[in-house]
Amino acid sequence: MTSATRIGIGYDSHRFGPGSCVLLGGVSIPAEVSLVGHSDADAVCHAITDALLGATALGDIGSLFPDTDPMNKGRDSIAMLGTAVQLLREAGWIALNVDVTVVCEVPKIGPSRNAIRTNLASALGVDINAVWVKGKTNETMGWIGRGEGLAVIAVATVVRA
Ligand code: MG
Repeated sequence: MTSATRIGIGYDSHRFGPGSCVLLGGVSIPAEVSLVGHSDADAVCHAITDALLGATALGDIGSLFPDTDPMNKGRDSIAMLGTAVQLLREAGWIALNVDVTVVCEVPKIGPSRNAIRTNLASALGVDINAVWVKGKTNETMGWIGRGEGLAVIAVATVVRA
């Protein structure tokens, strides 16, 4: 028997490179760097996608969208998240809520929080009040503290549709 509620966790990190904005949750946040990756490097979307797929044992972002596939180059991560949500639907699951922590020294997440929540809620098919996003610095410690990149941790709850 399968229980009706599941929890999944997702993690992602991306390196900073030269640029002028950091894309998180489909929002371009002005910054003196940009995220580097094979897709559009939106680590918030990637972590949530993995949390949803993990909760439902439907795979992971690497198996769904391998970075060896040229089709995934520069890929829109909000659309990738949408594909995962569709897979969940087909398997009889819907997202209940997601909680996201972005660990970075820059940019500040707070000013873009509601724009990110709006995008994510739309992609997930949930109310904005079922999505939270918070920023944490790493207190200047380690690779995040040195501003080499950022990390994201996401938790998702899903229920039987
Ligand atoms: Mg990623």
